[in-house]
Amino acid sequence: MKTEMLPCDERGISAAAGLLKKGEVVAIPTETVYGLAADATNEDAVAKIFIAKGRPQDNPLIVHISEVEDMEKYARDIPDVAYRLAEKFWPGPLTMVLPKKDTIPMATSGGLDTVGIRLPSDMTARRIIKSAGVALAAPSANLSGSPSPTSAQHVFDDMNGRIPLIVDEGCCTVGVESTVISFDGEGVRILRPGYVTFEDLLTVTENVVIDKGVTAELDAGAVVASPGMKYKHYSPKADIVLVEGDLADFTEYVGKNYGDGVYAMIFNSDAKGFPYRYVMYGDNDKENAAEVFDRLREVDEIGAKKVYVRCPSKNGVGLAVYNRLLRAAGFEVVTL
Ligand code: AMP
Ligand code: MG
Repeated sequence: MKTEMLPCDERGISAAAGLLKKGEVVAIPTETVYGLAADATNEDAVAKIFIAKGRPQDNPLIVHISEVEDMEKYARDIPDVAYRLAEKFWPGPLTMVLPKKDTIPMATSGGLDTVGIRLPSDMTARRIIKSAGVALAAPSANLSGSPSPTSAQHVFDDMNGRIPLIVDEGCCTVGVESTVISFDGEGVRILRPGYVTFEDLLTVTENVVIDKGVTAELDAGAVVASPGMKYKHYSPKADIVLVEGDLADFTEYVGKNYGDGVYAMIFNSDAKGFPYRYVMYGDNDKENAAEVFDRLREVDEIGAKKVYVRCPSKNGVGLAVYNRLLRAAGFEVVTL
């Protein structure tokens, strides 16, 4: 199949909507990462997403809507707190897991009786959803296991020949996937950290917990709240090691382990005088989020074999960056 790339103008949006109405899969931009979209209510269309990504069938897809009211078409028993969160954080990178209605096939929910729903803030995404006239299931548009795509080129690198169309809107502003939460009555549980932070959620409800799968490796066979958590994720081919410690200790550690194909991944402000090969991500949590997946792809392009990564903060959006790096590192963390 030939994969076309179109800009996010009228032509790109109507081409995308046309293909989506026909049950095809299209890569679309969102504010978080590029998504691999298909009609969330059409089992056959959704099946094509799993094939294009090589995604395990029990890993549920997030359903993207363009109006808050549409939540009620796909979810039931919606707690009051979900409406308050929607009011505060939608449109935006917050996914709410709710009991699903029959409008969402099991293929979309990965066999669960719940569905993750979000209303993206990206205007192109919303225009495509509106034009297609249906909610879109859209996981990240990468091959399963590899780093999420934050540019149309990243999508092309993974999906060329697998899907008919990529709508190009340049680089994603947020750069990490949405915050995923579930509900326990009026309480909220963070299943996957993202740009909407623990602290942000506390402004709406005092009852917020972080699932232990966010920062810890789950035991084999454990029942997971968020199926995506159990898979090795976001991994480049290079071996990633997350290193906790100050710059002096980090530099000494890289020096001791230096050799062929060894790189460091450091903050911009670390770069002056840093004596070893390196790539840089940002200088604060939000910049790190916007850069992290691009850097994880870059280390493979430059042929790195081993990458020692300076550990980001675990606060605010930093927790999302930490969570992605932890998985990219296969939970290999060195504390100095
Ligand atoms: P992706 O679409 O690649 O960003 O991955 C979506 C992730 O959201 C999944 O891997 C799950 O971890 C989580 N998720 C989506 N729907 C549900 C659900 N119904 N219950 C729990 N977690 C979900
Ligand atoms: Mg993904």
